[in-house]
Amino acid sequence: MAAHQRKHPESKLISLGIGDTSEPIPEVIARAMEQRAHGLSTLKGYTGYGSEQGPKELREGLVKAFYSDLGIDKDEIFISDGAKCDVIRLQLLFGPDVTMAAQDPSYPAYVDTSVLVGQTQGYYPDTQQYGKIVYMKCLPENNFFPDLSKMPRTDTIFFCSPNNPTGATATRKQLEELVAFAKKNGSIIIYDSAYAIYMSDDHPKSIYEIPGAREVAIETSSFSKVAGFTGVRLGWTVVPAELRFQDGSPVIKDFNRVLCTTFNGASNISQAGGLACVSSEGLEAIHKMVGFYKENTRILKETFDSLGFETYGGQNAPYVWIRFPGSQSSWNIFDEILEKADIVTTPGRGFGPGGEGFIRASAFAHREDIIEATQRLKSLYGGKSN
Ligand code: PLP
Repeated sequence: MAAHQRKHPESKLISLGIGDTSEPIPEVIARAMEQRAHGLSTLKGYTGYGSEQGPKELREGLVKAFYSDLGIDKDEIFISDGAKCDVIRLQLLFGPDVTMAAQDPSYPAYVDTSVLVGQTQGYYPDTQQYGKIVYMKCLPENNFFPDLSKMPRTDTIFFCSPNNPTGATATRKQLEELVAFAKKNGSIIIYDSAYAIYMSDDHPKSIYEIPGAREVAIETSSFSKVAGFTGVRLGWTVVPAELRFQDGSPVIKDFNRVLCTTFNGASNISQAGGLACVSSEGLEAIHKMVGFYKENTRILKETFDSLGFETYGGQNAPYVWIRFPGSQSSWNIFDEILEKADIVTTPGRGFGPGGEGFIRASAFAHREDIIEATQRLKSLYGGKSN
């Protein structure tokens, strides 16, 4: 991107690349953080370390906003500085000796953290895979869901729905199958619901909508894409009391220990913002902002569709997943769009070998940039039949 800008200093680059939010945080939420920050300058309002797990009010607020009727207790929720940070803490909890499975393509942090904690064995350039990881191919050909009857047992299964980058959302039936599979094999599912708020249909928003999930699944989530907190930093992880390791010991006890050892709690200012997010006024503001990004997604998807591309996602996640014809590499497609339209996308290959041949377009951008991008894409691909 920087090299392109140096080569073409006159070009106005539009980024539909990284999944970073672009719109300001709703005022009701920013104001709560401002007041909390100011409070820190007063004797009455000053606080230092809080509890590592986060304040009771925020955990209760999350239960009410996102887990009502799902049987989640506030003490099973751990507030954090973001879902990515929780993924590495979870990998630390599991340690180097476990085997893991991850969707391919998927958010790269699952595989990367597995490598970091030493769960993998070697890298195989021919398959572009790390040894010991089970890559669950999730492509249009299998409706973005793996054939579990052909999948080997692993200790952990990372599963993200709605998925980044494909935008695919697992159905209730698919998640029931996944939970049954984990139960049969004694596996733990790490379910990432960072984009659940973007869902337009009635597929499950949380893994705990599936009966029996409390015994097999951890759920991690985030305020990043919910409220524009990518820079503020706030997330949470749910560890149900019933979830046990194979030796019968409760996972929640060990996760609490890992958390308290590696973390001193999320910023008190961020937590004040989080509390405002789960208030009724905050939730209304959040849904409005999510609606804005969803409209961006619709415009992008419609553009690629009208140009004759095969597109996926875009309904339940702020990403459109586009397949390019022939056997073009995703890096070549990325280069072409950057060179000829000054638009940054993300090559599908960055999300795993299964992403080859695709690019991801992110809807996190100002509306005028989305409109401008669609015009440039129409000029670039309008004359071609794809
Ligand atoms: N999970 C998924 C699926 C993501 O796409 C992202 C960020 O793009 C994250 C987690 C990271 O969340 P956080 O900003 O809370 O670390």
